[in-house]
Order: sequence, then C-alpha cells, then structure tokens
Amino acid sequence: MPEVGVEGQEKIRSSTVLVIGAGGLGGSLLQYLVAAGVGKIGLVEADVVEGSNLHRQILFTHQDIGQSKGAIAKAVLNRLNPDVEIQHYNERFSIKNAYTLVQSYDIVVDGSDNFPTRYLVNDACVLLGKPFISGAVHRFEGQVVLLGLPDGPCYRCLYPKPPTPGLVANCAEEGVLGAVAGVIGGLMATETLRFLLGLHAPKGGELLQVDLKTFRFAKFVFSKNTACLLCGEAPEIFDLLENYEAFCGIPEQIAKVVTPAELHDWKIEGIDYFMLDVREPEEYAAGNMGGHLIPSGQLTNRLDELMQYRNKRVVVHCKSGGRSREATKLLLDAGFTDVWDIKGGFLAYLAFYHALDAFGKSTP
Ligand SMILES: [Zn+2]
Repeated sequence: MPEVGVEGQEKIRSSTVLVIGAGGLGGSLLQYLVAAGVGKIGLVEADVVEGSNLHRQILFTHQDIGQSKGAIAKAVLNRLNPDVEIQHYNERFSIKNAYTLVQSYDIVVDGSDNFPTRYLVNDACVLLGKPFISGAVHRFEGQVVLLGLPDGPCYRCLYPKPPTPGLVANCAEEGVLGAVAGVIGGLMATETLRFLLGLHAPKGGELLQVDLKTFRFAKFVFSKNTACLLCGEAPEIFDLLENYEAFCGIPEQIAKVVTPAELHDWKIEGIDYFMLDVREPEEYAAGNMGGHLIPSGQLTNRLDELMQYRNKRVVVHCKSGGRSREATKLLLDAGFTDVWDIKGGFLAYLAFYHALDAFGKSTP
C-alpha cells in the first residue's frame, strides 16, 4: 500500500501502544495491532475469562473460563505474531498506576467499559501530553475518537459531565451484539494505525459514530472547548482526581464487604447467610453461586420476597461489584440489618475457586 510502504512498516514496528482492557473492544483491536506488527503492546487487564462474555470476547474459549484474561490474550497474540512484544499488566488502570503506564507508551487505546476509567484515561493522557483513542459500544451502536493531540479536544471537551448513573448501564446489563464490539475494536485499531502512520486529522477530534441497526456511519468533528476544565483557557484540573467513581456519581461502599475467601470460610464454619444475586437471568444461566436471583432493576419492586431475611445475614453479589453496591445500599435503606457485598462479585468468586483448584483443594 502506498500509504504504508517500508517506511510506514518501520514506523509501526518502532511504536508502542498501551491497550486498556482485553474484552469486547480489546479482542479485535489487539489482534489487528499485533497482526500489523506494532513493536510493543502494553495490556492492562486484571479480570478473568467469564462464560457470559464469550460472544464478544473473541480471544477466549470455553476452556479459558476462570483464567486470567491478560495471560490468555498474551499467549494467543504471541502465536499470531511472535515478533510483537506484549507486556501484560495484571492490575486495574487506576490513579495509582495511570501516570507510570501512560508515560511509557506512544499512544493509549481505551477499550474499557466504564466512565470512571474513560475520564481517568483522559486526564492522565492530557496531563502527560499523550494522545489516546476512546471507544465505546452499546447494543448496536458504538463510537471511536482520537483525542489528546496538541490543540485538539479531549474527552472532557466532548463530555464535560459524566452521565447520570443508572441511565447508562454497562455491557453486562444492557447487552451488546458481539460483532458490533468487533467492528468498533477494528475501527480503534484502524485509527491507531492511522495515527502511527501520520494519516490522522492533525488535531484529532473526528468522532465516528456507528449505528449497525440502521447501517449508518456518521462523522462529527470536534475542536477544543475553550471552557474545558482540563485543557481549556482557564483550567481548574491540574492533577488526577482522587476518586473517579465519586466524580461519576457512583455511590460509596456503605455495606460490609466479604471476599470470596472469607465466604468460603463462613461455609466451612457453618455461618448461615442468604445469598442474593442481582445480575440478569442470562448471566445467571451462564454460571452462578446458587444465590436467589433478582435483577438489580427489579429489586425495588420485589423487596417483599426478601423481607423474611431483614434481620438475617444477607450476602449480595453481581458480576464485578457495581450493581451489588447499589443493591446493598437499597437493602440498608430499606432497614436490612446485616448486609454484605461480595468483593469483586462473581468474577472474583471464579478467580478464587480457580486458584483453589490449581492447588487441588476444592471445587465450588
Ligand atoms: Zn478538554
């Protein structure tokens, strides 16, 4: 291709890209970046493979369920192109590691599925002067945009305020067509390569919006918002925020917290508790801990079912801890006296039993 050539290949080969998440977006995104021969890819991923996600997380198979997503992704990608160096960071992208991680790469590609991470990626990148690509999917729709270039807009220029929690559900709750995540991940890879080859819009800010229900692509061009609190003319943000969840309106943890390991001990000690699972029926069918199922959206109207446990120990979980935090708050507000949130949710439970199995000690 004339746009790439030997010189372009060399540019790609000498580039480093930090990818956040090996999930639905990360799947196709990582495969194309690795196939294109990017020199080094950093992958930030702390989750384990979960059965209910396999329809959109194409790097993984049924045999990988319960195992580290990052470790499996690295092995699969190494087979695809052994010349690409892949560094797996088995940690969540957080205020503790954001600067160090972003600093070490040429560009950041955000394949996360939540607003606190998107704002954190934005702030870390803008404060360090690093470009980044933001992508998102929802049902049949998605979007991709390159941000954080000199004189170009940032995520806060486009979205000064995070959406009201509850109005926006995550992929697990609302669902996403797997192929749509693949398309958006592919577009993110394309935009990354366009950037590495110098074929991008000089200031970025070209947002490609995709609606695959109606088969429509639309391009919106954004410029820097002079009133942006981070990159505008009179900025007020000079460092990372202390709490991105709070900034996005996600409630503080007020219930007591129990880890899967502690819960395992409760079982052995014969401590009695009632378990409530607030995920969706499809997630429950794909794998569960035997809890009583009431999806988080129905909890307010179905509290009657739980009133007999009002003075008993109630343990609540969802997939990773977001919905259960809301649910435990609701139960405590309704007068329940002994409410516990399982730390890390069903994913942490799977990881715990996977580790136990590895030592041949137990199965759930
Ligand atoms: Zn801005």
